[in-house]
Amino acid sequence: MSGVLGRKRLVIGNWKMHGLVAENAARLTALSAATVDSSAVDVAVCVPFPYLLQASQALQGTAIGVGAQDVSPHGPGAHTGDVSAAMLADTGCQYVLVGHSERRATHAETDQAVADKARAALAAGLTPVVCIGETLAEQKAGHTLGVVSRQLAPVLALGTQAVNQLVIAYEPVWAIGTGHTATPDQAQQVHEAIRASLHTADAGQVRVLYGGSVNADNAASLFAMPDIDGALVGGASLKAPDFLSIVAA
Ligand code: PEP
Repeated sequence: MSGVLGRKRLVIGNWKMHGLVAENAARLTALSAATVDSSAVDVAVCVPFPYLLQASQALQGTAIGVGAQDVSPHGPGAHTGDVSAAMLADTGCQYVLVGHSERRATHAETDQAVADKARAALAAGLTPVVCIGETLAEQKAGHTLGVVSRQLAPVLALGTQAVNQLVIAYEPVWAIGTGHTATPDQAQQVHEAIRASLHTADAGQVRVLYGGSVNADNAASLFAMPDIDGALVGGASLKAPDFLSIVAA
């Protein structure tokens, strides 16, 4: 169902660096056979670069879209190993994750680099899913809101028009892949603060997803919160029935 103010739910699976052709084919077949109420929820899976075409072709004509897990901030040129936003769009992507905590941690992505990637994605007509969230140490020190606001600052500097078109995913690092989900109240508090910080005319329309150990059992209670518009799902998106249960929630 749509959330408050008519924001349509969005559930995105992040396959991370999992799956080879045969395993992907089985999962994609299960997803493409599913019935998704596209009037109520947008759904997508973010797959590794080499399998974007496989996913786009398998999901063509279904209600499930495709996204990538990273994008270059640059246009075409001498950027060996990078993949441009235009290339992603060319393979049929609609979404791209930017600033996932695993990339911030292992590729030293700065807040500004994440905003640059979001800008490049928007210019190619993709929807960037900007991932933000605090570490356990930052949470324990009471710095959650300060951290997410620092991470968002260069993204907000892209301007109102850009912010209105992107999706934000609040993913506390301590909840990712750990089985320790934020409680619905904990997540709601941060989501409300994030929305309040958007300062855009259409802040009420920007979708803010929760991510961090979302599964078929806890999804409904998270989605019941007024500022949680859906989820970014890692581990549970690797099993099609689990992912589809979350979509149904
Ligand atoms: C993620 O990969 O963004 C994520 C939230 O992972 P998990 O659902 O496994 O915690």
